[in-house]
This record gives sequence, structure tokens and C-alpha cells, in this order.
Amino acid sequence: METPVAAAGIYISVPFCKTKCTYCNFASGVFSKAKYRAYVDQLCADIVGAHEIAAGQQAEFVAAADSIYFGGGTPTILPASHIRQIFAALRARFDVARDAEITVECAPGTLGPEVLDVLLACGVNRISLGVQSFADEEARAVGRLHTRDAALRDVEVLRRAGIADINLDLIAGLPHQSAQSWQQSLDDAISTGVPHVSVYMLEVDEDSRLGTELLAGGARYHAHHVPDDDLIAELYEIACERLSAAGLAQYEISNFASRGHESRHNLKYWTRQPYFGFGVDAHSMLPPGPEPARAGIDAIRFGMGDTLEAFLSAGNAARIAASSTVSIEGALEEELFLGLRLNRGVDLAALRRRYSSALLAGTHQKIAKLCSHGLLQHAGIQLQLTPRGRLLSNEVFAEFLAPRAAPAGGVTDARARHELHTAPVG
Ligand code: SF4
Repeated sequence: METPVAAAGIYISVPFCKTKCTYCNFASGVFSKAKYRAYVDQLCADIVGAHEIAAGQQAEFVAAADSIYFGGGTPTILPASHIRQIFAALRARFDVARDAEITVECAPGTLGPEVLDVLLACGVNRISLGVQSFADEEARAVGRLHTRDAALRDVEVLRRAGIADINLDLIAGLPHQSAQSWQQSLDDAISTGVPHVSVYMLEVDEDSRLGTELLAGGARYHAHHVPDDDLIAELYEIACERLSAAGLAQYEISNFASRGHESRHNLKYWTRQPYFGFGVDAHSMLPPGPEPARAGIDAIRFGMGDTLEAFLSAGNAARIAASSTVSIEGALEEELFLGLRLNRGVDLAALRRRYSSALLAGTHQKIAKLCSHGLLQHAGIQLQLTPRGRLLSNEVFAEFLAPRAAPAGGVTDARARHELHTAPVG
């Protein structure tokens, strides 16, 4: 009997921001409001034509959706009429479950009454607030426009409006951060009583101004006040301890939630359920259509162009900037390096049911080696990262990735960006 295809998660990218935060390495920026209209029209055309996009990639179109996630960028920067238009397109093309988790990322201070009303009217039931730090000096240093008071006020406003499912994003490693200021930020987050907190470690790469400055050893963007690696690791461990003690159990490397409040949408990435992304730099993973499935292909991945200009100017087919197939062997690698992000780990019995013993034989040695190094552990039929393995998770994941040529257009990068999800957004 064939396994039924799971409901999809839908990701909507809104790449507009009021200012560009210095640490941000996402495909977002400050654009003229005149571009919003054209962008939303194109986004909606893609959503309505989603079945054709899937067919063009030889993927199966999954109409059932049980999670929707608006990220970016700052989705709440859009006028209420645009948000309404996007939801109308989504509900016209997809069968959105009545109990779907519908999340919108929001920069504190951007939740005006009109936007809040339209979010509620459209069925939004979860908000992710990009607080990053409750210390005003730290938020200001990286270009955030809000204050601690504004963030705390937003939590109250959301609760009064009936949205209790709130996530707060925090970043360990911001300029001027100390163990003391970090504990204060954690205390503030805990004191709000929100059921979900995400903790990311500052990413240092050339895709952000702060990252570039750090790599160059300079002092712009307060780079010389960024904590060193040891302190950042300590901040992460403090977060794990304090959040868990406050009833927000860690369920993924960067995510903590009270029971039943884990992010359904993000779990799709880590458990390899289908998802469909729309807009700039959005990525999709869908089951293969009949032909690729017969050829032993497990999934089809594709991603949209990562600049607004490319997204708006490209023809329909050209907007897909990268596309690749995932072999059965590749699917096993993904199950391991994505599933191990979760504290519950990977169900080895399920892997044995799904993959041939010949294929699994290659992983046994790697697992044994990582266990002997104290990075992995067995808990019944589950294989999990140890606490030390969580700190060195990239090294563990690299063990499971077979060296092979990167697919054209960098879908590997897309996997890193969207499923490894080590950077903050919004
Ligand atoms: S971190 Fe968020 S708000 Fe800041 S520039 Fe990036 S996407 Fe925009």
C-alpha cells in the first residue's frame, strides 16, 4: 500500500524591510513602496498557477496544506489590502486545513491596528516576533528599530487580540552582548509567558555587512564588540538551561517550546514533509511526479531567484533559479542530518523500514564513529545528538553528506538556508 502524501507547508516570502539589519544575510532589503504592488501581483499569479509550476518541475502538486508561513523580510510592512489579496490566492489554490497553523513574522513595532485586524480576518493564529535582543543598546547596534518596551507591548497587544501562539526570536552573539545582558533578555522572554522561543547564533559570512566586517577584522557596525566564539557558545548553553527550566523544552537545535506549541511549519523541513515556497528566494520540496518516481527519485527541490529584480523581470519558467532531484540515497542523508536537528532524533526502526539494508550499511560505520566521539547517542530506537554534538552539529551533519558536485544553482545552499535554519529572519 502506498503511503499517502502528507499535507504541504506553504512559505510566502515578503522581501521588504524598513531598514536592513547589519547581521541580515537574507534576500531582503529596503525597496520603494511602488514595488509592493508588482511583487504581490506576481506572487499571487504564482500561487494561483502553483499546479503548473509543480508540473513544470515534474513534481506532484500537493493541494492539501496544513501550515502557512509568511517570512521575509517583514511581511507586516505590506498594506492590509495586499495581505488580503495573498490569502485569497492561497485559499483559491490550496485546500487549507481548518486547523492550519498560520504564522506571520513580524518586526516589533510594525503591528498597527489595521494590519492586526486583517491578519485576524485572514486566519493568522501564530506570530513570530523578531526581537533578537531585549537590550536596547544591542538592538540599536544592529539596526533594529524597536525597543524592549515596544516588543513587550506587542506581546500584550497580540494576546488581547486573541493570538497567544507567539514566538520570540533571539540572537546570541550580537555586538555588546554579555552573559549578564543575555540572561536579562532571556528573563524578559520568559516573563512574557510566550510558548515558543527561537535562539540563533550570529552567522558570520560575507552575505551581511556585519559578517563581512568581522571577517575583515574591522570595527564598523560595532564588529569589535561582538562576543568571541567561546562566549557565544556559553550564551547558547545558558539559553538551553534557562528556557528548559522555564518549561520551554528544547525540541530542535534553535527552538524551544512548551508542550504542543512546536512549530508545525518548521517541523516539515526537518521531517522532510512537502513544502511549497513562493516569492523571492523561496524554496520548495515536493514528491516527484510519476516519471521521476519510477526512476527512483525521492523528491524534487526547486528555488526562486534570490533578488527582487530577477523575480519581477523573469518569465514564468526563468523565475525558478535552481532545481534538482533528490535520489533515494540523498533522501537517507537528509533524513539523518535534518532529523538529528530534533532533540527526539531519528527513528532508526523507521529508517530500516524505508531504506534497503545495503543503503543503510554505509551509515552504520559513521554512526558508530560519532557515538564513540561522544557526539551521537542511542536512546532506544532513536539516534540523537548529545549536548556536545548539538554544539558541534555542523561537523556531525557533514559526516552524513556524501561529497558530490553541488547542483546547478545551489539548491544545497537552499537546504542550508531553509532547513538548517541557523540564521534569524525578520
Ligand atoms: S533581519 Fe529581518 S528585519 Fe532585519 S533586514 Fe533581515 S529580514 Fe529585514
